Amino acid sequence: MARCIAGLVMIAAGSVVGAGASASPMPDASSHAPLAVTAVTLSVPAAPIPVNAAGRITLVYELHVANGGATPLRVERLEVHADSATNSTPIAAYSAREIERNVKLLAPRGAPTPKALTPGVRAIVYVWLTFDSSATIPNAISHRVIFANGDSARGGTVRVRPATNLVLASPVDTGDWWIGLGPSNESEHRRAVIRVGEDTVPHLAQRFAIDWVKMDSRGEYARDHRGRRNADWFGYAEPVLAVADARVAAVVDSIPDNTPGENSRAVAMTVGTVLGNYVILDLGAQNGAMHRYALYGHLKPGSVGVRIGDTVSRGQVLGAIGNSGNSDGPHLHFHVTEAPDAATAPLRGEGVPFTIDTFVVTAHDPDRVAKRAMLTGLGPHRNALPVEGDVIRILPSKRP
Ligand SMILES: [Zn+2]
Repeated sequence: MARCIAGLVMIAAGSVVGAGASASPMPDASSHAPLAVTAVTLSVPAAPIPVNAAGRITLVYELHVANGGATPLRVERLEVHADSATNSTPIAAYSAREIERNVKLLAPRGAPTPKALTPGVRAIVYVWLTFDSSATIPNAISHRVIFANGDSARGGTVRVRPATNLVLASPVDTGDWWIGLGPSNESEHRRAVIRVGEDTVPHLAQRFAIDWVKMDSRGEYARDHRGRRNADWFGYAEPVLAVADARVAAVVDSIPDNTPGENSRAVAMTVGTVLGNYVILDLGAQNGAMHRYALYGHLKPGSVGVRIGDTVSRGQVLGAIGNSGNSDGPHLHFHVTEAPDAATAPLRGEGVPFTIDTFVVTAHDPDRVAKRAMLTGLGPHRNALPVEGDVIRILPSKRP
């Protein structure tokens, strides 16, 4: 329904999967003593930050497997280990079939879309680990990849960062909202890795992005049940609100709205137009890390009432929900990144998790219920990240 910005900027089509560390680890497969291959590089470009999502403490990150050798490789098994002890029992392990559902292959610039982990290709494996409590999260994680030819590689060791302290107010006003296209391990947002400029390593600004679509009490998103006009959508022209006290870092406000539908973009889609009209708030830096930026996309043209450099207060109206940019229907695209300068290159950053201070889960998307159980439980929640397929109610009392 809410195609949003991910569709256009994805480098290659990929599919998806969720993998839970809480599942019983598979037995160690090292008995055949595979050879280590030095031409393979494992890395985790964006260190995971624990967040409370769907009732579990969750680590969301990507393992990059770069084939620098001369022969094609096929990943047969991936093990995640606590700290750097790759000879120990893994805390999670994934089979070839699971990995195939959770990988995107990235070719060198100018090369055709790869179909396998051939020389020069980078495999991006999407990992979504869940833990019962923060006490069981390791200080660091490392990886062991076993290939179909029996070779193996170890690496991708990265420290787990402190749990997110980014507790935000809702970016939308009161009412019921469908949480779309993420966060989950298989959403369009999750797959939207992009290379900006001359960057070799792609960025994933939309790692925790949410499309907010307003619903009525019957679970409809539009008054005429088809949503052929923007004004028929319940969310259209609804205010978007500052999630925290912040400084306005960027504003775009002049891109016309689309007519709802998949093939009715009002302007050509480029890197400069996919977000539509947007506001970026600079939330400041934490603990010496880069500044964090909140991005509100697809806004209604002419609705933005703040200017670059303005200081805004939590709950302040910034603009209104629209249908501009790469969007099929009125909704708010919202995400938070850590970036050197999100104002000049909004998608050149790494998506970081956040929580919403208070919300009530009132329903679940029937499609998601059928596919998986990874949803937030019905009822009130505090300081949690809603996940794809939740329908959440924002209550009126939180506006300051
Ligand atoms: Zn989106």
